[in-house]
Amino acid sequence: MSRKAVFLDRDGTLNVRAPEHEYVTSVSDFAWLPGAVEGVARLARADYVLTVASNQRGVARGLVTRETLREIEQRMQRDLVAERCAIERFRYCFHEGEDDCECRKPRPGMILDLAEQLDLDLAASWVIGDTETDVAAGRAAGCLTALVGGAEGEADLVAPSLDAASEAIASGFQPAPRESSGLNSAMSA
Ligand SMILES: [Mg+2]
Ligand SMILES: [Zn+2]
Repeated sequence: MSRKAVFLDRDGTLNVRAPEHEYVTSVSDFAWLPGAVEGVARLARADYVLTVASNQRGVARGLVTRETLREIEQRMQRDLVAERCAIERFRYCFHEGEDDCECRKPRPGMILDLAEQLDLDLAASWVIGDTETDVAAGRAAGCLTALVGGAEGEADLVAPSLDAASEAIASGFQPAPRESSGLNSAMSA
């Protein structure tokens, strides 16, 4: 049976985002946001498979190496061991916007790939990110969406942080039906 999951954005959601046009270029640049580790652990305890789906255009630009990405993964996993959880799969888009790939968010390619590889139930899963690009990718994949980190925008859940979003999700938060959905309005009629 398909499992429910969270598709976590990385920069600005799990860790402090680099200034605009800059990148997290080494493992020493990686700093968890307050409560992020606890939030991830809370989602794991609520039986969500943990995945990370992240646009990493800095790789295409030669500013970030794949080796650095691996080192950051190892750092994250090491920190999560203390909370007895782990990211099951990391998935990146290394392309530039003009590459017109299927994976770069707001397109849903990374999420769809992860769902197929790990047998995940998209409709029961959450995409959590700090930009509308993340939300758009989540909607395109048919997931629930959470916007965190103080950005303005519409999502199924808007919360100040991953920590806060995880509390709502783990306690069974269900979004109000979207008015644009004919199915939902038929069901509530
Ligand atoms: Mg982000
Ligand atoms: Zn891509």
